Amino acid sequence: MKKITVAIDGHSSCGKSTMAKKLAREAGYIYVDTGAMYRAVTLFAIQNGCFAADGSLDAARLESLMPGVSVSFRLDEETGKPLACLGGVVVEKEIRGMEVSNRVSPVAALPFVREAMTRQQQLMGKEKGIVMDGRDIGTAVFPNAELKIFVTASDEVRARRRYDELRAKGEEVEFEQILANVRERDYIDSHRAVAPLRQAPDALVLDNSNMTIEEQDAWLWKAFQKAVNTIQ
Ligand code: C5P
Repeated sequence: MKKITVAIDGHSSCGKSTMAKKLAREAGYIYVDTGAMYRAVTLFAIQNGCFAADGSLDAARLESLMPGVSVSFRLDEETGKPLACLGGVVVEKEIRGMEVSNRVSPVAALPFVREAMTRQQQLMGKEKGIVMDGRDIGTAVFPNAELKIFVTASDEVRARRRYDELRAKGEEVEFEQILANVRERDYIDSHRAVAPLRQAPDALVLDNSNMTIEEQDAWLWKAFQKAVNTIQ
């Protein structure tokens, strides 16, 4: 059976990665979480003094250090899930916290960061058989993807999901803080000059505000089957 490219874009914390991972597992495809890549670059910037005490970003410093940034994935031997690595070291926990979440959107807006990540993502998907989630996959990374999904949900619903997830991991976070972060990231992601978050004209829209995970998975599987059958 011919393999296709699946691009899943949408707002922050709308469950893209959960549905993308499940689809990749069932289809036997590779899954790539591109948000984790931008988060890893942000962690690198934090660790290498690219943020001043007032929170401002020294883009020139990050650009000069960029050739030394190595982002990759390794499969967790126990769970089979991909783990994001920076310089070969697993950084899954560090990249999911609020420090990185609060700083990732300005880093991801830098053209030289996008260029490096986009190049790497295109290489990862050159054989197809890939499910990639992010903000610009169907518009900039794989504009010819056979299946494009644009996922969204209300910001309150998304903030609640992220809040529950972080609380379950034992992080001390406030709901209002998460809601502000979700709104701020959406704003920056949608208004940046390079590859802003927007719905590709040929994307199928999924608003999952009132859907269960099972309903959403069933919807996606049906869309996937249809796209695969179309190209056979
Ligand atoms: O998907 P996630 O919320 O982990 O992404 C973190 C951030 O990385 C986003 O808010 C966005 O700023 C950036 N991002 C991006 N392009 C992508 C994926 C993520 O700009 N393809």
